[in-house]
Amino acid sequence: MTDLAAPAIVAQVLDAPPLAMIIIDQHGIIQAFSKRAEQVFGYAAADIIGKNIAVLTPPHVAAQHDDYLANHVRTGEKRIIGSNRIEMARHHAGHNFPVELNVSPLNLGDRAGFVGFLRPIGGGELQQREARTMLAELAQTSRVSAMGALATAIAHELNQPLTNIANFTQGLSNLVGRQDEFKGREEVLRILGNCSSQAVRAGQLLHRLRDFVKGGQPVTEPCHVTELVRDAAALAMINGFKRTIHMAHDLPAELPMVEVDRLQAQQVLFNLLRNAFEAVDAENGGRHEIFISARDTGDGFVQINVEDEGPGIAPEIADSLFESFVTTKGGGMGVGLAICKQIIESYGGRIGVGKSTRLPGAAFHFTLPIVHGPTGTGD
Ligand code: ADP
Repeated sequence: MTDLAAPAIVAQVLDAPPLAMIIIDQHGIIQAFSKRAEQVFGYAAADIIGKNIAVLTPPHVAAQHDDYLANHVRTGEKRIIGSNRIEMARHHAGHNFPVELNVSPLNLGDRAGFVGFLRPIGGGELQQREARTMLAELAQTSRVSAMGALATAIAHELNQPLTNIANFTQGLSNLVGRQDEFKGREEVLRILGNCSSQAVRAGQLLHRLRDFVKGGQPVTEPCHVTELVRDAAALAMINGFKRTIHMAHDLPAELPMVEVDRLQAQQVLFNLLRNAFEAVDAENGGRHEIFISARDTGDGFVQINVEDEGPGIAPEIADSLFESFVTTKGGGMGVGLAICKQIIESYGGRIGVGKSTRLPGAAFHFTLPIVHGPTGTGD
């Protein structure tokens, strides 16, 4: 009988795609580097074994690695170890790319070590050029949505005064109309009539504008939540990779598919992640962790949570957070969350925020509808 634990067989299994495998010791020195890892990073195993794992990460992250490892060995704290994470990695050629990573502790006999299994997001094809195209596409959708939110807000704000003008002028017409001896009565009535009809017309235009904004029908399709999260997270990482932020995620494999417009769902995730990045960034010296998780709510929706280590929601804006133009940022437009709310509610979902129980900062949550149909796995 074949000994399945024989080193040669184990080595073959470890070299099997699609996962790349890297083993490091407790000081971060690379001990083993699988064939797939060679393809993913562009290094030959012989050249990289003996080097510090830091060479495989962007320089700003590299500085933190030793601290993380030392901290884990000293305290046993599981910050990176054991969870699925999305991180930026660095190719031999010098470009950064997002990877999904799972690290477990190893006993290397005389010392502690770690084994990491990873795969590039988008099968390695989410390269800079494609990412840039996707970002541009997302930015365009954001702009369109921002205009939509702007138009909605303008419509909302202007509708009331316009209604008032129409009412006042109508009232004045009635008043003047009753005074037979009023000089220039005909002229005043004519002008007031114009005024009134102009105000009504402006109101109708705004209604049409609002209908137009609402009317841009999204194209929905069954989507894997895990893929939506991975892609949006990868884009957010690429967009903000100069910041030293790590993402962990907890997404059960058996999650049902959701029926959404892929770009819109990614836009919601992207907005929440960007806010989390900015919140965490603002907390200088704080720990830089963002946690994404998802669960089936049991009533036809999947709930996705984005938690961060930022300062949490400022109390003065907590009640109006999802309204347009509410911001605490100098250059902020304050439409991001309003757009998220608009998108989520168009699917009959909910969006909200609370205090994270896992991390010190905010915990945003939103729901997306599960697929109801022959293509879905959620029925
Ligand atoms: P903007 O980012 O342009 O300010 P948003 O609508 O996306 O617009 O966010 C509105 C406000 O909500 C932000 O200015 C910020 O004060 C707050 N906020 C959003 N996300 C977070 C978060 N993760 N942590 C703390 N505050 C947040």
